[in-house]
Parts: sequence; C-alpha cells; structure tokens
Amino acid sequence: MIEGYPEIGKDIGALKRPPNLADWASLRASWSWDDQWAELGRPNGLVNKAYECVDRHADGARASHRAIVWNGADGAVETYTYADLKARSNQVANALKGLGIAKGDRVFLLSDRIPELYFSVFGILKIGAIAAPLFSAFGPEPIKDRVARAEGSVIITTPKLLPKVNAIRDQLPSVRHVIVIAHREGKPVAPGDIDYASIVYGASEAFTIEPTGPEDWSIMHFTSGTTGLPKGAAHVHNAIVSHYATGKYALDLQPDDIYWCTADPGWVTGTSYGIFAPFSNGVTSIIDEGGFGARRWYDIIQKFKVTVWYTAPTALRLLMKAGEEIPAQFDLSTLRFIASVGEPLNPEAVVWGNRVFSQAIHDNWWQTETGAIMCANFASMPVRPGSMGRPFPGVEVTVVDEDAREITEPMVEGHLVVKPGWPSMFRTYWNDEERYNSRFKNGWYYSGDKAKKDADGYIWFVGRDDDVINTAGHLVSPFEVESVMIEHPAVAEAGVIGKPDEVAMEVVKAFVTLNEGYAVTDELMRDLNRHARARLGPAVAPREIEVIDLLPKTRSGKIMRRLLKARELGLPEGDTSTLEED
Ligand code: ATP
Ligand code: MG
Repeated sequence: MIEGYPEIGKDIGALKRPPNLADWASLRASWSWDDQWAELGRPNGLVNKAYECVDRHADGARASHRAIVWNGADGAVETYTYADLKARSNQVANALKGLGIAKGDRVFLLSDRIPELYFSVFGILKIGAIAAPLFSAFGPEPIKDRVARAEGSVIITTPKLLPKVNAIRDQLPSVRHVIVIAHREGKPVAPGDIDYASIVYGASEAFTIEPTGPEDWSIMHFTSGTTGLPKGAAHVHNAIVSHYATGKYALDLQPDDIYWCTADPGWVTGTSYGIFAPFSNGVTSIIDEGGFGARRWYDIIQKFKVTVWYTAPTALRLLMKAGEEIPAQFDLSTLRFIASVGEPLNPEAVVWGNRVFSQAIHDNWWQTETGAIMCANFASMPVRPGSMGRPFPGVEVTVVDEDAREITEPMVEGHLVVKPGWPSMFRTYWNDEERYNSRFKNGWYYSGDKAKKDADGYIWFVGRDDDVINTAGHLVSPFEVESVMIEHPAVAEAGVIGKPDEVAMEVVKAFVTLNEGYAVTDELMRDLNRHARARLGPAVAPREIEVIDLLPKTRSGKIMRRLLKARELGLPEGDTSTLEED
C-alpha cells in the first residue's frame, strides 16, 4: 500500500447504470459457473467461442446489433452487425476448410487491426483450428520462432507485413499456406500465395461449426516476454464462460454499451477482452486500426460515444504526460466505466483519472496463462488506489507463504496463486509441458507474481518474483518505489531495480524519464532524492536515481526491469524479441 491515497468511494445510486455486480460478497457466496453457462448457448453440447460470440447473437434478437465499428487509420469507418460477422466468419471457415485446414491445426495471424483479422479469428475457431495471433510489429525472427515452436500450418497476413514472412518462410517447413489479405491495399498477390478475397468472397455464407467440446483447443497466445523467452500458452473453448462472466461483472458490460479495448489482438488482452468478452456479451466494440495519440484517443471516445473503456497503465501514463488541457477539449461524458490491466496501475494514475474523467480507473489483474480477469476493482466497490481489487467470484486467488499456506495476516507479502480449475485456465505451454507442470505446486497455480492482501480482501501487487528487491533486510516492491517517483511533477515514468551490493545485498536504483519542460540539473536530482526519501524513508528510497530518455518496454507496453538490470550490470540481455524498438 502506498500512503496518502484515500479510498475512492462509490455512490451506487449516482452511477450512470446500476452495476451488474451489485454485491461482491453475495455473488461470490452464491456463484455457480453453471449459472453462467445457462446464459450462454452450448446447443447439443457444442462449446465453441465463435458460436457464443457470433452465431448465438446472429441467430437471435441481436442479429442487427452492431458488433464492430471499425475506425480505419485513414479515417474510414465500417460497421458490421452480428449477422455480418456470422456470414463473414462462415466464409473464412469454408475457405480454410477448402484448403484442407483441419481441427487442431495452428493458424497464425499477422495483421494490423482490420476487420478481416476478426472475421478470420472466428473462421478459424469455427473449423476447430487454433488461432495464434502475432503482434504485427514483430520482426522476422520472433515470427519464425513462434510459428516454428507451434508448427503452424497457415499464416494469414497482409501485403505490408508479408516481406517479414517471406524473409523466414524457407525455414518454416510446417507452413503449408500463406494467405494474403490484399484487397485493402490494392496489391497483387504473388504466385504461390493465396489471395484472401479470392477464396473467401466466393465461399458460402453458411457453415456448420465443427462440434468442438469444452476441452478442445481454441487459441494460443505467446506471453509478453517481460521476464524472459515468451511462452506459448494454449487455451480451450471452455474459456468462453470466463470471458463472458468477467465481461459482464468485472467490466460491467451491458447490452447498449459502446466498448473500446485498446489492446492489440497480438496480446491476450486484445483477444480475451478485445474479442471474446465483448462479443459473447453482445455489445458494440470500437476497433481502432491506428496507434496511440492522446488527441486521437480522446477523439475516438468522443466520436464513438464510448461508454466502457479498457486500457493499460502505459497508455494512461502517456495520457498523463500529454497534460490535462487536451482532454478538457473533448466531450468524454459518455464514459461510465474505465478499467486497466497489464502492469501495476500507479495510484497517481487513479487519482488523475478521477480528476480528468470524474471517475476512478479500475485496475484488474490476470495473465496470458489465466486467460481471463482473476481479480478486479468492481464497479460497485470503493477503489483503493494501487490495489488490483478483489478475487473474481468463482475464482480462488490469494497469497501464500513459502510453505504454500494461505497468508491470513493482512499486508504480508507472498506468492500470488490461483486454485486450479478456473474455466479459462491455460492447458499447456505449447511443446513445453515441463515448464507448464512447474507452475502447479501444492494445489496452487503459481502466477510468478508477489502480492499482499489487506484485511478486506483487496490484493496489492508487489512485483514479479524476480523483481522484488531485498535491501538490508527490507523487501522492497519496485512498483511502490516507481509509484512514488512518478508523483514528482518532473517524472513521467519510472523503472526500479535491485543492484547487487556487498553490504546491503541489494540497493534500490530508479531509472526515470522526465516530463516535457524538465531538464537534468543538480537541483532536480536533489529534489527527486528529497521526494523519494520523504515518501519512502531512507531504507527504501533509491540509493541511485538516473534519468534516461526511454524506459525499455515490451511491445505490449510493459517496463522490462530485467533489461534495465542487465544493462546496468553489463550482463547479457536475454530474449529481446518483444522489446519495443521505437
Ligand atoms: P512473460 O510471462 O513472458 O514474462 P508477461 O508476464 O508480462 O510476460 P503477460 O501474460 O502479458 O506476460 O502479463 C501478465 C503479467 O503482467 C502478470 O503476471 C503481472 O506481472 C503483470 N500484470 C498484469 N496486470 C497487472 C496489474 N493489474 N497489476 C500488476 N501487474 C499486472
Ligand atoms: Mg508472465
């Protein structure tokens, strides 16, 4: 917990909508996953994400409801209803089947956020194949590594990204087809490649979904690579009930919401919450092809009247850096629920959000491996800035000591664990069963994160196992130090590491980037040190503070502390395939 951030209360009667989750404790006590399934379809035992997200709505009352409102990078807007989504994904399914792609095959997607990416994900799921999205900014090597490890059969891409595939294609013997979505770029398709339009547009709009069951594979996601070599976490169709339920209760999705998830489908947030949660809940999703820009983003919220917004700390910190004059120029009053994931959300960002959007930002925690939100700040619950909220009903997530015993004493640090068996649990690391098994011990799934739990069951992130710092007998959370550093008006972002030290075991070092208008002067450095010591005390305050231009981050926007440390100590950098380069 970071001192000085009072709880943000909730006046439920004053919320724009009564929240789906009115009372956390009672829903938790009465929770049944079967009740959630009862709200989904499962016709004749079919468990298929594409059915629950698309056909269920297209065959019912929401057929003409907008599923996707696509905001093209050039300003073009396209709208697709649930009925459209069914027809388009059926065509993709027929086309893939026509190529001999079958249940269990890995179909990779390397594309910017264009509608065909979404049609393709559902087409792949409908034939029972495994969708494996890649982040479009990956270079040839990370693409090769992932496709090779998963023995992918197909890569679906665009002309713009194709050269990266061509550069490594001869090293990928498992790849039988490369499908190119060429029509948007008006480019010809080379002999040997398959033109998306030519196989999809002529295909039938009717398709019978492969009769998949709960334990059939659906999607494979590579982790962000924050702590090392990315792992290929594989998920099953059963996960959809988690996506549906967390969409409804943790993101509070309601039928007429206009929802915007800013994550790219190359990362798990972009599929679990950019695709499966909103579509299974039948809401309208804004899909923005473009990149980050403070003005652009506020404009999207205004233009499309976004009501529920799911984003990430790195983006929020950039918005903070851009200043408060910009949001003041936009009508953001449609926003009624804001959530964040991916990294610890600094309390300063929650306070900023409360000022700029007149509401709290709701942090929640989960991982590629957990497939869906595990703990969250719910709409009806007071927000404690710096906390990730409470366990999702139906999920047992807690903190245990070195002997795997649940820690009952408040605010004592331990391993953040989940009781295995939640519906969206990953079922393997592809071709790395040993590593998968190593994550399950003593009846728990070990997340690899450390956390604390307060007396009311709110969970507070401490750090990754490898990042927690031990200095002169104190365990120091890099997140707490970073959060205090960014309170200083000069500091935009901070990354904190432990440096080996003969006396103290480790000493705390903070790397910071500065906001516009600040320069490195002796006075500023003195002031940063003063601020850190006043807020953290001399035992925890960084021994060293260094200003750098850019913090190394993964392409999904996470601070790579291991890289800061390796560079500081002159050690090998390890896997940098997900390092953001620009
Ligand atoms: P890798 O496993 O390859 O090192 P990664 O763990 O960053 O990468 P993801 O699965 O994308 O890959 O990220 C999950 C991790 O992100 C969590 O284990 C946690 O460390 C961090 N995280 C996610 N949400 C939060 C949050 N709300 N607060 C703190 N940390 C978070
Ligand atoms: Mg991880």
